[in-house]
Amino acid sequence: MTGSDARRRCRHCGTTLHHTFVDLGMSPLCESFLSAGELDTMEPFYPLHVFVCDSCFLVQLQEYVSPSSIFTEYAYFSSYSDSWLAHARRYTEQMIDRWKLGPDHQVVELASNDGYLLQYFVERGVRSLGIEPAANVAATAVAKGVPTQVSFFGRETARQLVAAGTSADLMIGNNVLAQVPDLSDFVGGMKIALRPGGVITMEFPHLLRLIEGNQFDTIYHEHFSYFSLLTTIRIFAAHNLQLFDVEELPTHGGSLRIYAKHQEDATKPVTERFEMLAAKERELGFDRLDSYTSFRQQVENTKQRLLEFLIAAKREGRSVVGYGAPGKGNTLLNYCGIRTDFLDYTVDRNPYKHGRFTPGTHIPIHPPDKIAETRPDYVLILPWNVKDEIIEQMAHIRGWGGKFVVPIPSVIVY
Ligand SMILES: [Zn+2]
Repeated sequence: MTGSDARRRCRHCGTTLHHTFVDLGMSPLCESFLSAGELDTMEPFYPLHVFVCDSCFLVQLQEYVSPSSIFTEYAYFSSYSDSWLAHARRYTEQMIDRWKLGPDHQVVELASNDGYLLQYFVERGVRSLGIEPAANVAATAVAKGVPTQVSFFGRETARQLVAAGTSADLMIGNNVLAQVPDLSDFVGGMKIALRPGGVITMEFPHLLRLIEGNQFDTIYHEHFSYFSLLTTIRIFAAHNLQLFDVEELPTHGGSLRIYAKHQEDATKPVTERFEMLAAKERELGFDRLDSYTSFRQQVENTKQRLLEFLIAAKREGRSVVGYGAPGKGNTLLNYCGIRTDFLDYTVDRNPYKHGRFTPGTHIPIHPPDKIAETRPDYVLILPWNVKDEIIEQMAHIRGWGGKFVVPIPSVIVY
Protein backbone atom coordinates (compact mmCIF):
# COMPACT_ATOMS: atom_id res chain seq x y z
CA MET A 1 0.00 0.00 0.00
CA THR A 2 1.37 3.43 -0.93
CA GLY A 3 1.33 6.37 1.44
CA SER A 4 -1.55 8.01 -0.36
CA ASP A 5 -3.65 4.82 -0.27
CA ALA A 6 -3.02 4.57 3.46
CA ARG A 7 -4.22 8.12 3.99
CA ARG A 8 -7.24 7.83 1.76
CA ARG A 9 -9.15 5.69 4.20
CA CYS A 10 -12.05 6.77 6.33
CA ARG A 11 -10.90 8.02 9.74
CA HIS A 12 -13.81 6.21 11.38
CA CYS A 13 -14.57 3.01 9.48
CA GLY A 14 -11.50 2.45 7.28
CA THR A 15 -13.36 2.38 3.94
CA THR A 16 -11.36 3.76 0.99
CA LEU A 17 -12.46 7.30 0.12
CA HIS A 18 -13.58 7.90 -3.48
CA HIS A 19 -16.02 10.81 -3.36
CA THR A 20 -15.17 14.52 -3.29
CA PHE A 21 -17.23 16.75 -1.02
CA VAL A 22 -15.38 19.91 -2.05
CA ASP A 23 -11.89 20.74 -3.33
CA LEU A 24 -10.58 24.16 -2.22
CA GLY A 25 -7.20 23.77 -3.89
CA MET A 26 -3.89 24.36 -2.13
CA SER A 27 -3.63 26.43 1.04
CA PRO A 28 -1.11 27.07 3.83
CA LEU A 29 -2.04 26.18 7.43
CA CYS A 30 -4.63 28.75 8.41
CA GLU A 31 -3.05 29.72 11.74
CA SER A 32 0.52 30.04 10.46
CA PHE A 33 0.70 33.83 10.51
CA LEU A 34 3.96 35.25 9.22
CA SER A 35 6.33 37.78 10.70
CA ALA A 36 7.77 40.46 8.42
CA GLY A 37 11.04 38.49 8.25
CA GLU A 38 9.25 35.41 6.89
CA LEU A 39 7.61 37.14 3.92
CA ASP A 40 10.48 36.39 1.54
CA THR A 41 10.78 32.69 2.38
CA MET A 42 8.98 29.63 1.00
CA GLU A 43 5.66 28.72 2.55
CA PRO A 44 4.31 25.17 2.64
CA PHE A 45 0.89 24.71 0.98
CA TYR A 46 -1.25 21.59 1.39
CA PRO A 47 -4.35 20.36 -0.42
CA LEU A 48 -7.77 21.24 1.02
CA HIS A 49 -9.54 18.35 -0.65
CA VAL A 50 -12.48 17.08 1.40
CA PHE A 51 -13.90 13.59 0.88
CA VAL A 52 -17.08 11.91 2.07
CA CYS A 53 -17.04 8.25 3.10
CA ASP A 54 -19.65 6.26 1.15
CA SER A 55 -20.04 3.83 4.04
CA CYS A 56 -20.42 5.93 7.24
CA PHE A 57 -20.78 9.40 5.56
CA LEU A 58 -18.08 11.02 7.65
CA VAL A 59 -16.95 14.12 5.75
CA GLN A 60 -13.21 14.40 6.19
CA LEU A 61 -9.87 15.80 5.23
CA GLN A 62 -6.75 13.71 5.16
CA GLU A 63 -4.16 14.34 7.82
CA TYR A 64 -1.70 16.28 5.68
CA VAL A 65 0.06 17.77 8.69
CA SER A 66 0.56 16.22 12.12
CA PRO A 67 -1.32 17.89 14.99
CA SER A 68 1.89 18.37 16.97
CA SER A 69 3.14 20.78 14.31
CA ILE A 70 -0.19 22.61 14.29
CA PHE A 71 -1.11 22.87 17.94
CA THR A 72 2.06 23.26 19.97
CA GLU A 73 2.06 27.02 19.59
CA TYR A 74 -1.44 27.97 18.65
CA ALA A 75 -2.37 31.59 18.00
CA TYR A 76 -6.03 31.27 18.90
CA PHE A 77 -6.87 32.56 22.37
CA SER A 78 -10.54 31.91 23.14
CA SER A 79 -10.82 34.80 25.57
CA TYR A 80 -10.59 37.46 22.86
CA SER A 81 -14.25 37.12 21.90
CA ASP A 82 -16.86 38.63 24.25
CA SER A 83 -19.72 36.58 22.85
CA TRP A 84 -17.74 33.34 23.26
CA LEU A 85 -17.06 34.15 26.91
CA ALA A 86 -20.74 34.86 27.50
CA HIS A 87 -21.54 31.53 25.87
CA ALA A 88 -19.06 29.75 28.19
CA ARG A 89 -20.55 31.36 31.28
CA ARG A 90 -24.12 30.39 30.33
CA TYR A 91 -23.00 26.82 29.67
CA THR A 92 -21.33 26.59 33.10
CA GLU A 93 -24.49 27.73 34.90
CA GLN A 94 -26.64 25.36 32.88
CA MET A 95 -24.43 22.32 33.62
CA ILE A 96 -24.04 23.06 37.34
CA ASP A 97 -27.82 23.31 37.50
CA ARG A 98 -28.75 20.28 35.40
CA TRP A 99 -26.21 17.82 36.85
CA LYS A 100 -26.15 19.32 40.38
CA LEU A 101 -22.38 19.81 40.34
CA GLY A 102 -20.59 20.86 43.51
CA PRO A 103 -17.19 20.73 45.22
CA ASP A 104 -17.25 16.90 45.20
CA HIS A 105 -17.46 16.71 41.44
CA GLN A 106 -14.72 16.77 38.85
CA VAL A 107 -14.94 18.59 35.53
CA VAL A 108 -12.36 17.80 32.84
CA GLU A 109 -12.12 19.84 29.68
CA LEU A 110 -10.24 18.53 26.65
CA ALA A 111 -8.47 21.23 24.64
CA SER A 112 -9.25 23.74 27.37
CA ASN A 113 -7.46 26.58 25.59
CA ASP A 114 -6.70 29.58 27.85
CA GLY A 115 -9.16 28.54 30.56
CA TYR A 116 -11.96 30.66 29.00
CA LEU A 117 -14.57 28.13 30.20
CA LEU A 118 -13.10 26.32 33.22
CA GLN A 119 -12.51 29.67 34.95
CA TYR A 120 -16.29 29.81 35.55
CA PHE A 121 -16.33 26.31 37.10
CA VAL A 122 -13.35 27.29 39.29
CA GLU A 123 -15.30 30.41 40.33
CA ARG A 124 -18.22 28.21 41.41
CA GLY A 125 -15.95 25.87 43.41
CA VAL A 126 -16.20 22.80 41.14
CA ARG A 127 -12.93 20.84 40.80
CA SER A 128 -11.58 21.49 37.32
CA LEU A 129 -8.80 20.21 35.14
CA GLY A 130 -7.92 21.35 31.65
CA ILE A 131 -5.99 19.26 29.12
CA GLU A 132 -4.40 21.50 26.48
CA PRO A 133 -1.67 20.64 23.97
CA ALA A 134 -0.47 24.19 23.23
CA ALA A 135 1.99 25.11 25.98
CA ASN A 136 1.77 28.89 25.46
CA VAL A 137 -2.02 28.81 25.69
CA ALA A 138 -2.03 26.47 28.72
CA ALA A 139 0.34 28.83 30.57
CA THR A 140 -2.26 31.62 30.25
CA ALA A 141 -4.88 29.32 31.82
CA VAL A 142 -2.62 28.39 34.74
CA ALA A 143 -1.86 32.07 35.33
CA LYS A 144 -5.56 32.74 35.86
CA GLY A 145 -5.94 29.87 38.33
CA VAL A 146 -7.20 27.08 36.08
CA PRO A 147 -5.28 23.81 36.66
CA THR A 148 -4.11 22.70 33.23
CA GLN A 149 -2.03 19.79 32.01
CA VAL A 150 -0.09 20.20 28.76
CA SER A 151 -0.82 17.15 26.61
CA PHE A 152 -2.80 15.69 23.74
CA PHE A 153 -5.76 13.59 24.82
CA GLY A 154 -6.25 9.93 23.99
CA ARG A 155 -6.40 6.53 25.68
CA GLU A 156 -2.93 6.89 27.19
CA THR A 157 -3.62 10.28 28.81
CA ALA A 158 -7.00 8.96 30.00
CA ARG A 159 -5.38 5.96 31.72
CA GLN A 160 -2.84 8.25 33.41
CA LEU A 161 -5.61 10.52 34.68
CA VAL A 162 -7.59 7.61 36.10
CA ALA A 163 -4.45 6.12 37.69
CA ALA A 164 -3.79 9.48 39.34
CA GLY A 165 -7.33 9.49 40.76
CA THR A 166 -8.99 11.85 38.28
CA SER A 167 -12.07 10.72 36.41
CA ALA A 168 -14.76 13.03 35.14
CA ASP A 169 -18.31 13.61 36.27
CA LEU A 170 -18.55 16.08 33.44
CA MET A 171 -16.19 15.84 30.49
CA ILE A 172 -16.19 18.72 28.05
CA GLY A 173 -14.80 19.01 24.57
CA ASN A 174 -15.59 22.20 22.69
CA ASN A 175 -14.35 22.60 19.14
CA VAL A 176 -11.85 19.78 19.49
CA LEU A 177 -13.51 16.69 17.96
CA ALA A 178 -13.07 18.03 14.43
CA GLN A 179 -9.35 18.46 15.13
CA VAL A 180 -8.69 14.92 16.27
CA PRO A 181 -6.77 12.82 13.71
CA ASP A 182 -7.29 9.53 15.55
CA LEU A 183 -10.98 9.57 16.41
CA SER A 184 -10.93 6.08 17.84
CA ASP A 185 -8.14 6.87 20.31
CA PHE A 186 -9.80 10.10 21.40
CA VAL A 187 -13.34 8.79 21.91
CA GLY A 188 -11.88 5.61 23.44
CA GLY A 189 -10.02 7.84 25.92
CA MET A 190 -13.24 9.60 26.88
CA LYS A 191 -14.84 6.23 27.61
CA ILE A 192 -11.94 5.44 29.98
CA ALA A 193 -11.86 8.77 31.85
CA LEU A 194 -15.63 9.15 32.28
CA ARG A 195 -16.87 8.15 35.73
CA PRO A 196 -19.89 5.76 35.83
CA GLY A 197 -22.94 8.02 35.71
CA GLY A 198 -20.87 10.83 34.20
CA VAL A 199 -21.79 12.98 31.23
CA ILE A 200 -19.82 14.05 28.17
CA THR A 201 -20.76 17.22 26.32
CA MET A 202 -19.08 18.19 23.09
CA GLU A 203 -19.63 21.12 20.81
CA PHE A 204 -18.64 21.10 17.17
CA PRO A 205 -19.82 22.76 13.98
CA HIS A 206 -22.83 20.94 12.54
CA LEU A 207 -22.31 19.61 9.01
CA LEU A 208 -25.94 20.33 8.25
CA ARG A 209 -25.37 24.03 8.93
CA LEU A 210 -22.08 24.04 7.03
CA ILE A 211 -23.91 22.82 3.94
CA GLU A 212 -27.06 24.94 4.38
CA GLY A 213 -25.07 28.05 5.31
CA ASN A 214 -22.45 27.54 2.60
CA GLN A 215 -19.72 27.76 5.26
CA PHE A 216 -16.92 26.30 3.19
CA ASP A 217 -14.43 28.66 4.84
CA THR A 218 -14.71 26.65 8.07
CA ILE A 219 -12.86 23.89 6.22
CA TYR A 220 -9.18 23.99 7.05
CA HIS A 221 -6.29 21.63 7.62
CA GLU A 222 -6.76 21.75 11.39
CA HIS A 223 -10.32 20.42 10.95
CA PHE A 224 -10.00 16.80 9.95
CA SER A 225 -13.67 15.82 10.32
CA TYR A 226 -17.10 17.41 9.75
CA PHE A 227 -19.93 15.78 11.68
CA SER A 228 -23.61 15.18 11.21
CA LEU A 229 -25.55 13.97 14.24
CA LEU A 230 -26.09 10.59 12.56
CA THR A 231 -22.36 10.02 12.00
CA THR A 232 -21.54 11.15 15.55
CA ILE A 233 -24.02 8.64 17.00
CA ARG A 234 -22.22 5.89 15.06
CA ILE A 235 -18.73 6.98 16.16
CA PHE A 236 -19.63 7.12 19.87
CA ALA A 237 -21.56 3.84 19.71
CA ALA A 238 -18.40 2.13 18.47
CA HIS A 239 -16.96 2.89 21.96
CA ASN A 240 -20.07 1.93 23.94
CA LEU A 241 -20.99 5.54 24.52
CA GLN A 242 -24.54 6.56 23.82
CA LEU A 243 -25.78 9.98 22.75
CA PHE A 244 -28.98 10.90 24.59
CA ASP A 245 -29.48 14.63 24.06
CA VAL A 246 -28.50 17.37 21.64
CA GLU A 247 -28.82 21.13 21.40
CA GLU A 248 -28.49 23.25 18.30
CA LEU A 249 -26.37 26.33 19.05
CA PRO A 250 -25.73 29.47 17.01
CA THR A 251 -21.96 29.42 17.73
CA HIS A 252 -19.46 29.09 14.87
CA GLY A 253 -22.22 29.42 12.32
CA GLY A 254 -24.30 26.62 13.84
CA SER A 255 -22.98 23.97 16.18
CA LEU A 256 -24.25 20.91 17.95
CA ARG A 257 -23.82 20.30 21.64
CA ILE A 258 -24.15 16.57 22.08
CA TYR A 259 -24.61 14.77 25.40
CA ALA A 260 -23.22 11.27 25.82
CA LYS A 261 -23.15 8.69 28.61
CA HIS A 262 -21.97 5.16 29.18
CA GLN A 263 -24.16 2.74 27.20
CA GLU A 264 -24.98 0.88 30.41
CA ASP A 265 -26.12 4.02 32.28
CA ALA A 266 -29.93 3.71 32.29
CA THR A 267 -30.58 6.88 34.31
CA LYS A 268 -30.60 9.33 31.41
CA PRO A 269 -33.46 8.96 28.91
CA VAL A 270 -33.11 9.93 25.28
CA THR A 271 -34.72 13.33 24.74
CA GLU A 272 -37.38 14.23 22.21
CA ARG A 273 -35.24 16.96 20.61
CA PHE A 274 -32.54 14.35 20.02
CA GLU A 275 -34.99 12.01 18.22
CA MET A 276 -36.31 14.94 16.18
CA LEU A 277 -32.94 16.10 14.92
CA ALA A 278 -31.88 12.56 14.00
CA ALA A 279 -35.14 12.17 12.07
CA LYS A 280 -34.57 15.51 10.32
CA GLU A 281 -31.10 14.44 9.16
CA ARG A 282 -32.49 11.17 7.80
CA GLU A 283 -35.16 13.13 5.96
CA LEU A 284 -32.55 15.45 4.44
CA GLY A 285 -30.64 12.44 3.17
CA PHE A 286 -27.56 12.55 5.42
CA ASP A 287 -27.43 8.76 5.15
CA ARG A 288 -27.27 8.93 1.33
CA LEU A 289 -24.24 9.84 -0.78
CA ASP A 290 -26.04 12.02 -3.35
CA SER A 291 -26.96 14.67 -0.77
CA TYR A 292 -23.25 15.49 -0.33
CA THR A 293 -22.19 15.92 -3.91
CA SER A 294 -23.90 19.22 -4.87
CA PHE A 295 -22.01 21.30 -2.30
CA ARG A 296 -19.14 21.90 -4.70
CA GLN A 297 -21.15 24.01 -7.16
CA GLN A 298 -22.51 26.21 -4.39
CA VAL A 299 -18.95 26.98 -3.22
CA GLU A 300 -17.71 27.91 -6.68
CA ASN A 301 -20.66 30.30 -7.11
CA THR A 302 -19.75 32.13 -3.91
CA LYS A 303 -16.15 32.63 -5.01
CA GLN A 304 -17.37 34.14 -8.28
CA ARG A 305 -19.79 36.49 -6.49
CA LEU A 306 -17.22 37.72 -3.95
CA LEU A 307 -14.64 38.41 -6.66
CA GLU A 308 -17.26 40.22 -8.76
CA PHE A 309 -17.98 42.51 -5.82
CA LEU A 310 -14.30 43.22 -5.09
CA ILE A 311 -13.41 43.83 -8.74
CA ALA A 312 -16.32 46.27 -9.12
CA ALA A 313 -15.35 48.10 -5.90
CA LYS A 314 -11.73 48.46 -6.98
CA ARG A 315 -12.72 49.65 -10.48
CA GLU A 316 -14.79 52.39 -8.81
CA GLY A 317 -11.69 53.41 -6.84
CA ARG A 318 -13.06 52.26 -3.48
CA SER A 319 -10.84 51.11 -0.63
CA VAL A 320 -11.53 47.77 1.02
CA VAL A 321 -10.01 46.44 4.26
CA GLY A 322 -10.69 43.37 6.36
CA TYR A 323 -11.94 42.96 9.89
CA GLY A 324 -10.55 39.96 11.75
CA ALA A 325 -7.84 37.43 10.94
CA PRO A 326 -9.55 34.17 11.90
CA GLY A 327 -8.57 30.79 10.51
CA LYS A 328 -11.70 30.75 8.38
CA GLY A 329 -10.68 34.05 6.82
CA ASN A 330 -7.48 32.46 5.59
CA THR A 331 -9.34 29.63 3.86
CA LEU A 332 -11.55 32.18 2.12
CA LEU A 333 -8.71 34.52 1.12
CA ASN A 334 -6.51 31.73 -0.24
CA TYR A 335 -9.32 29.93 -2.08
CA CYS A 336 -10.48 33.17 -3.70
CA GLY A 337 -6.96 34.53 -4.31
CA ILE A 338 -7.55 37.77 -2.38
CA ARG A 339 -4.32 39.59 -1.48
CA THR A 340 -3.35 43.23 -0.97
CA ASP A 341 -4.56 43.84 -4.52
CA PHE A 342 -8.07 43.77 -3.01
CA LEU A 343 -7.64 44.19 0.77
CA ASP A 344 -5.24 46.92 1.96
CA TYR A 345 -4.96 45.30 5.39
CA THR A 346 -7.00 43.58 8.05
CA VAL A 347 -7.36 44.23 11.79
CA ASP A 348 -7.72 41.95 14.79
CA ARG A 349 -8.21 42.38 18.54
CA ASN A 350 -5.64 39.70 19.32
CA PRO A 351 -2.27 41.43 19.94
CA TYR A 352 -0.43 38.21 18.98
CA LYS A 353 -1.39 38.89 15.37
CA HIS A 354 -0.44 42.58 15.22
CA GLY A 355 2.50 43.21 12.90
CA ARG A 356 2.06 39.75 11.41
CA PHE A 357 0.72 38.78 7.97
CA THR A 358 -1.99 36.37 6.84
CA PRO A 359 -0.59 33.02 5.63
CA GLY A 360 -0.41 32.63 1.86
CA THR A 361 -2.00 35.99 1.07
CA HIS A 362 0.41 38.20 3.08
CA ILE A 363 -2.16 40.78 4.15
CA PRO A 364 -0.82 42.90 7.07
CA ILE A 365 -2.71 42.69 10.40
CA HIS A 366 -3.14 45.84 12.51
CA PRO A 367 -5.01 46.74 15.71
CA PRO A 368 -8.69 47.75 15.08
CA ASP A 369 -7.92 51.49 15.55
CA LYS A 370 -6.28 51.49 12.14
CA ILE A 371 -9.73 51.55 10.50
CA ALA A 372 -10.61 54.94 12.02
CA GLU A 373 -7.26 56.30 10.78
CA THR A 374 -7.65 55.25 7.14
CA ARG A 375 -11.48 55.51 6.79
CA PRO A 376 -12.00 52.79 4.16
CA ASP A 377 -15.16 52.53 2.02
CA TYR A 378 -15.74 48.86 2.79
CA VAL A 379 -14.88 46.61 5.73
CA LEU A 380 -14.99 42.91 4.79
CA ILE A 381 -15.96 40.94 7.91
CA LEU A 382 -14.01 37.69 7.89
CA PRO A 383 -15.37 36.17 11.15
CA TRP A 384 -18.98 36.43 9.82
CA ASN A 385 -20.20 34.25 12.72
CA VAL A 386 -19.77 37.25 15.05
CA LYS A 387 -20.78 39.88 12.50
CA ASP A 388 -23.47 41.44 14.74
CA GLU A 389 -20.91 42.05 17.50
CA ILE A 390 -18.45 43.59 15.01
CA ILE A 391 -21.03 45.79 13.27
CA GLU A 392 -21.99 47.16 16.69
CA GLN A 393 -18.36 47.71 17.82
CA MET A 394 -17.43 49.36 14.53
CA ALA A 395 -20.61 51.42 14.03
CA HIS A 396 -18.45 54.58 13.77
CA ILE A 397 -17.47 53.70 10.18
CA ARG A 398 -20.95 54.93 9.17
CA GLY A 399 -19.66 58.40 10.12
CA TRP A 400 -17.60 58.59 6.92
CA GLY A 401 -20.02 56.53 4.83
CA GLY A 402 -18.22 53.23 5.37
CA LYS A 403 -20.09 49.97 4.77
CA PHE A 404 -19.72 46.41 6.00
CA VAL A 405 -19.46 43.45 3.64
CA VAL A 406 -20.21 39.92 4.83
CA PRO A 407 -19.01 37.20 2.44
CA ILE A 408 -20.85 34.13 3.80
CA PRO A 409 -23.44 32.64 3.26
CA SER A 410 -23.59 35.01 0.33
CA VAL A 411 -22.06 38.41 -0.36
CA ILE A 412 -24.16 41.07 1.42
CA VAL A 413 -23.34 44.76 1.94
CA TYR A 414 -24.64 46.39 5.15
ZN1 LIG B 1 -16.39 5.76 7.00
